[in-house]
Amino acid sequence: EAKARARGSFLFFHAEFSERLLLRLEREQALRAAIARDEFVLHYQPRVDAMTGELRSMEALVRWQHPQRGVVPPLEFIETAERTGMIVALGELVIMKACAQIAAWQAQDLRLVPVSINVSPRQFSEKSLGPMFAEQIALHRIDASLVEVEVTESGIMADTDEIAANLALLEQLGIRLLVDDFGTGYASLSQLQRLRLDGLKVDRSFTTALARGREGEVFYRAIVSMAHALGMSVVAEGVETAAELQVLQKLGCDEIQGYLVSRPVPADEVAALMERRYLFPHKAAA
Ligand code: C2E
Ligand code: MG
Ligand code: MG
Ligand code: MG
Repeated sequence: EAKARARGSFLFFHAEFSERLLLRLEREQALRAAIARDEFVLHYQPRVDAMTGELRSMEALVRWQHPQRGVVPPLEFIETAERTGMIVALGELVIMKACAQIAAWQAQDLRLVPVSINVSPRQFSEKSLGPMFAEQIALHRIDASLVEVEVTESGIMADTDEIAANLALLEQLGIRLLVDDFGTGYASLSQLQRLRLDGLKVDRSFTTALARGREGEVFYRAIVSMAHALGMSVVAEGVETAAELQVLQKLGCDEIQGYLVSRPVPADEVAALMERRYLFPHKAAA
């Protein structure tokens, strides 16, 4: 009887396993088709000066415009893209779209700010990444200072020739480099200094922790003093409340990003934000 039960659970496990495998293959297939058809658009989220609210940059965040499911957020497909290597093709689409968008805004005589492009660790290990930026910048005749790159710690810590070449080319082009989700990885101080990064974007979890009072502030205090000593700026991610902003201002954080200022918006809403320029919530006129 025990044997039969074991067999039953094996069959059950087996069926469940195949189902999951099938689901995974379906997802991969769908993503591959979506890349071939280019069903992706970029939304943009402002990053502003922590003291004045002046617009500093627009972060490009990819969305999958699924014909049936509607807008699919990156958390539901970036991991699949990374695991399968499709992130390289998807990443190229993102870089092309962002550069084309910068050129379009440039033609509109707006008060332009840089566009910040997310690059995943796998992309950063591809030899083609730096050349892709160089090519797109030249093709669209945009100023390289209007392009920034965000990558997590794990994307740049490994000491490989490909990463080194990409870092060197981005620097040579004049593209600013920011560490995304800072504090969640294993970067050491000496690595940060050696890489000559422009800024650290502190992970949202540390911003949320600010609500815990002095204990929650410890991390930010350390980061701000370290970053400033190394000539880097500090960006707080995921700022949702005026109380968080107030603490970040007190701690000397340079820039902030988060729902308090604006959610990511479609490209056609960006011009209005650039024109407004100062993006802290307006106080009603007395
Ligand atoms: P990220 O680069 O750290 O981007 C920040 C994420 O937090 C975005 O989610 C943004 O919408 C969200 N966020 C911003 N402010 C707040 C806030 O105040 N509260 C909360 N709860 N969330 C906030 P999104 O757009 O879903 O992107 C998720 C992640 O997907 C990004 O994290 C990034 O790692 C990745 N990603 C997005 N676009 C791309 C891309 O084009 N290429 C690559 N490789 N990765 C991308
Ligand atoms: Mg980012
Ligand atoms: Mg981030
Ligand atoms: Mg993140």
